[in-house]
Parts: sequence; structure tokens; C-alpha cells
Amino acid sequence: MSKLGIKNIGILVTGDVKAPISKATTIIVEDGKILKIGEEKLLEEFKCDKVIDAKGSTVAPGFIDSHVHPVLGDFTPRQNTLGFINGSMHGGVTTMISAGECHTPGRPKDATGTKALAVLAHKSSKNARPGGVKLHGGALILEKGLVEKDFEELAKEGVWLVGEIGLGSVKDPEEAAPMVKWARKNGFKVMMHTGGTSIPGSSTITAQDVINTDPDVVSHINGGPTAIAPEEVNKIIENTKMALELVQCGNYKIMKHTVNAVKEKDQLERIIVGNDSPSGSGIIPLGVLRTLSYVASETNASAAEAICFATGNTAKAYGLNVGFIEEGKEADFVIMDAPMGSIGKNSLEALEAGDVPGVSMVIIDGEVMFTKSKNTPPATHGAVIC
Ligand SMILES: [Zn+2]
Repeated sequence: MSKLGIKNIGILVTGDVKAPISKATTIIVEDGKILKIGEEKLLEEFKCDKVIDAKGSTVAPGFIDSHVHPVLGDFTPRQNTLGFINGSMHGGVTTMISAGECHTPGRPKDATGTKALAVLAHKSSKNARPGGVKLHGGALILEKGLVEKDFEELAKEGVWLVGEIGLGSVKDPEEAAPMVKWARKNGFKVMMHTGGTSIPGSSTITAQDVINTDPDVVSHINGGPTAIAPEEVNKIIENTKMALELVQCGNYKIMKHTVNAVKEKDQLERIIVGNDSPSGSGIIPLGVLRTLSYVASETNASAAEAICFATGNTAKAYGLNVGFIEEGKEADFVIMDAPMGSIGKNSLEALEAGDVPGVSMVIIDGEVMFTKSKNTPPATHGAVIC
């Protein structure tokens, strides 16, 4: 049994948007799971093989990017880039959720082909974590011709995601809604593209389309990249309980509107965060952190609440055992502080000032993935292995 201790935590962000900050200063990890959270004296009780000194900086759950378009491994043909997943890990991302492998060259658009692609992508990302990240690959793209039995077969193979509805030939709510029911019956989580399209030739997906189709997640409520109007956003907020996704590669004005409208209703647990990358907007390794910085500095949500959007909220929406610093959860952490030169004195103040924090360490399943991010500015106080 291997044990890891993290001590001298200045700010512990829990992942729980209703109680985002804990006073605990020490975490004990055993065999990749969080064993105890409390005071430094825990280190006397549990003898650790490795101890990390957070140097008074912030420890948060590793970020979950709720919207990625991977293909296979850590390569994307969308912008011909190698290593984009590893680049995101250096922005604090420890889990990624595929919204559909739509950039696969020659992607098959028949029922057999779309199923095969989902199974291949699911198993590939499970067998070898691309770039070191827990990628949940293999999000089924809905194509005409899929029948109920297909969802049963896919569930048996472990596939549990339906990628953004609208990527495939099934776009019409009348056609999509029965498939959503079959998917849900078989334990799938379903996402749906919202707003204008990034591909010429198809039409805008409206609030009413989303309501009629009934997905679990409203993908990029702030547009991917073109957003629906504020009144349309309000219609989804008021008439559904769906998770509402903000993306980096979207419309910032609608992002602000969404956060403020949801905050006013005291429903912040509905907001999740993704990149929607690789895409036409590019590959943005710090996309999740940049979204949190925008939300913390420009909306009525606090920095600690924003971090919970990208951690606990997303884990809850997808039923994952990550995203919270709680006993029994997988030990995925991002350790960060105000970047050198920021007017903020700690990571939260830096985010609220509009800066991107400096990430000094990322831990996945209790394993240190790196010390010092290759992509963020340097942290004022960086965690070290004692
Ligand atoms: Zn989309």
C-alpha cells in the first residue's frame, strides 16, 4: 500500500460549489484514493512514502474538461497537432470527456461505422491514457439507422457517452428524442450541441430543440462558437434541470449572461466547463483555466465557485468518482498559486483579477505527473516533493 501526503495547503478547494473552501491543510492518499483530510498531525498517524509541501498554495481537484474532440491517442488531425492532451494536463486538466470523435479522417456515417468508432475510441483511451490524462473517449455520434439494440450492444462494450447531438445525421428532435431515451435506458449520458453551427449548411439548434430532445448536458450554452440569444438561454435555464456547459471556444458575452442568470437562481451546481477543442478556434492548453479566470473576474461567481464548475459539478453531471476532495475519491489534484507578478496574493485572488494561476504540480491517482507546468506562468509559491 503506497501512501502520499500533501501538507501546508494554504487554500483547499473542495469541488463542492455549496461549500467550496475547506480549512484542512493536509491530505493523505492511499493507493490512488483520498484516505483522510485534516490537520498536519495526520502525517504522524499515517507514515507516507512521499510527502509534498504545498508551500501555502492552493490544492484543488484536478480539472475536468467536459468537451474535447479527440481522435485516437494524443494526436489530432483538426489542427495537425501532437501532444495536445498532455499540453492540457499542464493547464491542470486530469480528466477529459469526449463530445464525439468527429475529426476522425473519413469518419463513417452509417450505423455500423459510428458504433465501431465509439467502441474503438472508448477502448483505446481506456487501455492507454493519452498524454497521461483520464480521457473518456468513444462518444457515440448519432447517425440515421441506429436502433435500440445498438445502444444495448454498445453499453455491453463499455460505451456510455453520446457525443453532441448535431454532429451526425440525426439532428431533428423528432428523430433524436427516441434515441436519447434508448441511450438513457442503457446508462448513457447524452450531450447536445446548442446554438449556431460551426459547419456551414446546417441550422441553429434552438432552446426549444434542446427541450424537445432532452439531453443530460446542454453543450456550449454559450455557443460553439455562435451562441443563442440571452432569452433562449433563459428558456433552457427555467424549463429544464440540464447541466449547462460553458466553453472556452464560445461567446463570452453569453458566458457572462449564463453565469449571472444561474447564480441569481441559486443553481450554480448546474454549470460545467469545457474547452470545445481541438476546433476551428484552435487548441488551447490553458482553456479551462482561462475560462475560470474569465468567470471569476467578470461574473458574479467567485473564483472558488468557478473552480467547482470545472471539478465537482462536472463529476456529478457525468457520475465520475473524481472532482471532489473527499475521502474515497480518486486522488487527482492541481496545485497552483498566484502567478509571479500578479496583483492577486493567492490563486483565487489572481483568478478574480483576471489572471491565470501558476500550476506547480499535477497529481493523478496519487502519482505526481510533473513539477512546474510547461504552459502556465510560474507560481509565486510552488509545491515541492520533500
Ligand atoms: Zn458543438
